[in-house]
Amino acid sequence: MSFALAPGATIGILGGGQLGRMLALAAARLGLKTHIYSNDPDSPAFDVSAARTIAPFDDEKALEDFALNVDLVTYEFENVPARTAALLAEIGAVRPGPAALATCQDRLVEKEFLTSNGIATAPYLRVDDAGSLARAVAQLGRPSILKTRRFGYDGKGQVLVREGGDLAVTFRSLGGAPAILEGIVPFAKEVSVVAARGADGAFAVYDVCENEHENHILKFTRAPARIAPETAAEAVRIAHAIADALDYVGVLAVEMFVVDPTGGEGEGPAELRVNEIAPRVHNSGHWTLDGALTSQFEQHVRAVAGWPLGVTDRHGSSVEMWNLIGEEAFAWEQILREPRTSLHLYGKSEARAGRKMGHVTRVAP
Ligand code: AMP
Repeated sequence: MSFALAPGATIGILGGGQLGRMLALAAARLGLKTHIYSNDPDSPAFDVSAARTIAPFDDEKALEDFALNVDLVTYEFENVPARTAALLAEIGAVRPGPAALATCQDRLVEKEFLTSNGIATAPYLRVDDAGSLARAVAQLGRPSILKTRRFGYDGKGQVLVREGGDLAVTFRSLGGAPAILEGIVPFAKEVSVVAARGADGAFAVYDVCENEHENHILKFTRAPARIAPETAAEAVRIAHAIADALDYVGVLAVEMFVVDPTGGEGEGPAELRVNEIAPRVHNSGHWTLDGALTSQFEQHVRAVAGWPLGVTDRHGSSVEMWNLIGEEAFAWEQILREPRTSLHLYGKSEARAGRKMGHVTRVAP
């Protein structure tokens, strides 16, 4: 596809969280304007964007007005209704395309897509009611994890199926929503690959990074991941195959489990299993803001604009990123005094528990 924006054009972004905010800042640096569409009047991205629409994601009139007022639509979160993306795509360019979005927003569709492309995942089974949950548990055993097919993030929409627990109660605890049951992967490490695919099929990838979660929320990322070079190469190969198979345009992140008693640091490639594909910029790519020649946000803007992708080389021997969650952001002044440390705050007014308020990066010399 040859469609490309010119400087001065407007990118419409569905979603107004911190990812939209950092996309808007990157777009501004490249002389592009942004128009944020969000259902939340208190969206952090509004502060840094020329235009806004506050409306539900299924308001067809508001969506149509939005599409007519921008030169291209992208999004910062994957729970955009498929109907919304399809509606917008009838009016103008939507990147990444609605098909990629539809694949990645449903855990079952995503797992079937990966499996059909020969990419390993956790063992999984479809669960539609308490009866199919009982059959799935009989097959995958306990403990296992029940996850809603849609709308899950940061551990929401997930429940551990424990020894002895009542399965009907477990199923109801997720509101009876369509789900999948996943077997537990005995991982040694969690890594992710943040990569970009251009409108011309070009592919650019950052160093594979390793991630630590706390209460299901990303806490810490280190790049490069401490894994064998063969394991890193295999992780990149998998991400590239996914981006090609989705005919993807933009930045995506692929989260993977490293299954290896030595944590992947041993000889030869460790076994990798894909956990999730995020069809957007990703928290585990925030280190690139200070730690890479082109940030993931600039890279996404370049890709969707139809522009050449930027160089992904890392600054420094390694880069670390911590999320500031809830009241941790109150330490901003102390963080500002630390050498070689960069502070990013998202401008959120209320530091609720579990809320991502900002992040900190540190680039090693
Ligand atoms: P998710 O929302 O699917 O990204 O899951 C959040 C976190 O839960 C992951 O980053 C893992 O730490 C853990 N987790 C999810 N699924 C599995 C699994 N099948 N086996 C082991 N740990 C898992």
